[in-house]
Amino acid sequence: KLHNTILELKGNIRVFCRVRPMLPDDGASAEASVICYPTSMESLGRGIDLLQNGNLGIDKSGLTAVQLHWQKHQFTFDKVFTHESSQQNVFVEISQLVQSALDGYKVCIFAYGQTGSGKTFTMMGRPETPEQKGLIPRSLEQIFQCSQSLVSQGWKYKMQASMLEIYNETIRDLLSTNRAGSVDNSTAGRQYTIKHDVNGNTHVSDLTVVDVCSLKEVSSLLHQAAQSRSVGKTQMNEQSSRSHFVFTLRIYGVNESTEQQVHGILNLIDLAGSERLSKSGSTGDRLKETQAINKSLSSLSDVIFSLAKKEDHVPFRNSKLTYLLQPCLGGDSKTLMFVNISPDPSSMGESLCSLRFAARVN
Ligand code: ADP
Ligand code: MG
Repeated sequence: KLHNTILELKGNIRVFCRVRPMLPDDGASAEASVICYPTSMESLGRGIDLLQNGNLGIDKSGLTAVQLHWQKHQFTFDKVFTHESSQQNVFVEISQLVQSALDGYKVCIFAYGQTGSGKTFTMMGRPETPEQKGLIPRSLEQIFQCSQSLVSQGWKYKMQASMLEIYNETIRDLLSTNRAGSVDNSTAGRQYTIKHDVNGNTHVSDLTVVDVCSLKEVSSLLHQAAQSRSVGKTQMNEQSSRSHFVFTLRIYGVNESTEQQVHGILNLIDLAGSERLSKSGSTGDRLKETQAINKSLSSLSDVIFSLAKKEDHVPFRNSKLTYLLQPCLGGDSKTLMFVNISPDPSSMGESLCSLRFAARVN
């Protein structure tokens, strides 16, 4: 389209796998990792050796496959990030995709995985530590920097941010200010219904949409959203997020000399934990919650799978998440799914499920 190299995508859907490091809380040593990487040269792209051999210094940037220790079966991705990959290593691989939103593309980047696998670390990171910032703050930095540098070429941009979560198939506005920090939209009598207009764009009625002119403005909104996110307690992780977090940046660009116009959308989505029922010890409300999560994650996988297969019917309407994102999935929009994996032996079953999920998407 415009000032950017067009990405060469396999279709427009890519899947990256990221294995987080072993953490002290895992109670296992780094050597106990259930994840290993293939050794045969042909499966390694650019000449990488088995990480487990401790061959440091070897280029791992072309890694595209992972294995579970005890499984011969190999899972292949568009890219694999190991426990040694930094936030910067990851961002380098997605910065072009982010850039394409400025060029008028619709982009979705998802983080999928069980609770504790590193989704939030990948998306948000630890913003207070520069090296550990995740891809949301890095993407926004890039977008604002770049939009400023294009001013000299006649481009003017207007950006709008919204942030919501989908919890139990109900949308909650994370930027609504009139409820003093409460995210219980039902008491405010709001519906937050999703509507598609004639141009195929989605609107969520009553959702707060904020004009943002600087990185600082959008950062403070992110902070506000983080404060209002609902968190639940499970046996697995006290801070476990049981809802999907959807950050949307709409980018309207006009070139005053050429009169070109672009409308790009960047959606960055931290999905709810993908763990199955038994492990979180669910009963009652938690059970209902888990069922809603499972339903929307499987709907998402159905949608991405049928898009990847170029099927005629894509079941967008089966969940709020896919219905909301419908205009940004398929067509010439671009989708990237991170599959986050924990190397901890006690998570092996869930890791296998996540790898299988991704293998289906891929
Ligand atoms: P999730 O959002 O999937 O539940 P988190 O992102 O909260 O998982 O990660 C769980 C823990 O692991 C957090 O303490 C996080 O900081 C840490 N972590 C995750 N990925 C990495 C990584 N690549 N490097 C270092 N620490 C990580
Ligand atoms: Mg999280």
